[in-house]
Amino acid sequence: MLDHPPSQFRFARRRCLQLTGVAAVELTLGPRFLSRPSRANPLERPERRPLEILVISDTHLGYKGQESARRQWQATAEALAKAPGALVLHLGDVVDGGREPQYAVYQEIRERIGKPVHEIPGNHDPAELFARHIRPAIDTVVELEWIRFVLLNNSKPESHDGFLAPRQLEWIDEQCLAAARDKKLVVIGLHVPAHRNAHPDRGWFIKPTDGQTRLYELLAKHRDTVLALFHGHFHNGLRGWDDHPPCHEICFPSALYNQDRKLREQQAPGYNLPEFRPGFTRVTIAPESLRFVYQPLGGAEGVPHTAPIPRTAT
Ligand SMILES: [Zn+2]
Repeated sequence: MLDHPPSQFRFARRRCLQLTGVAAVELTLGPRFLSRPSRANPLERPERRPLEILVISDTHLGYKGQESARRQWQATAEALAKAPGALVLHLGDVVDGGREPQYAVYQEIRERIGKPVHEIPGNHDPAELFARHIRPAIDTVVELEWIRFVLLNNSKPESHDGFLAPRQLEWIDEQCLAAARDKKLVVIGLHVPAHRNAHPDRGWFIKPTDGQTRLYELLAKHRDTVLALFHGHFHNGLRGWDDHPPCHEICFPSALYNQDRKLREQQAPGYNLPEFRPGFTRVTIAPESLRFVYQPLGGAEGVPHTAPIPRTAT
């Protein structure tokens, strides 16, 4: 665990929106990178305009051997096609239970999005199937202007826990060093979170001896470079933690189903927006903030939601 002072975090605002009759929950997180000494000279910083991307996770094509996941993915793809965003990140569990024929179903629908889509495998995506149907080089880097997305496979079909192998940790270190040299910032995509999310959370994470300890060391080393860890896996809507500042750790909602585990009522650490319908997330990345808009599908009734603003930790 790190012991950085949490005061560099500021949750700027959150509000509920109506977007074309669909309810959305918006949350802005503000790591105060601009005020940190290591980034003190603005003249040395390249121009970094806010970047908009779309994030999806846990499509689980073939779920329970039924058609519902395909229909849901189709509706999601149509919404993603219309939404603003330079690219789409898919944070794993593309298919359900390693059902190989479902990758073709996924790909055929993905074509309709009309934007680049970059996936990582989840525990339901055996690495060899993912490599065959999605991308041969599983661990990869995607660049978008001043952001470098470092995408890795950190899950195994036989476990809900995650891992990072020593060579992957070395590779993360190298990518962060290279990004810093290129004056870029990094977002790391891992299906399974690193955060030790104890009860009442699911408790699925990268255990200390499976790479968590080293990963947090690397996040401390590259604290001026790594903005956030993006995860899927939890099916808990938008769930995040801010106790390893200045790096944010966020589990994104499933496009298929989400569950309300009553984390707010149980005062679990971090935040969990009060929206649990299937959906995707619009993310605006700026050097000083990450803004999330959780966009549920099929929310024509437009019920507004309000989430508590996590207090500034001082
Ligand atoms: Zn998963």
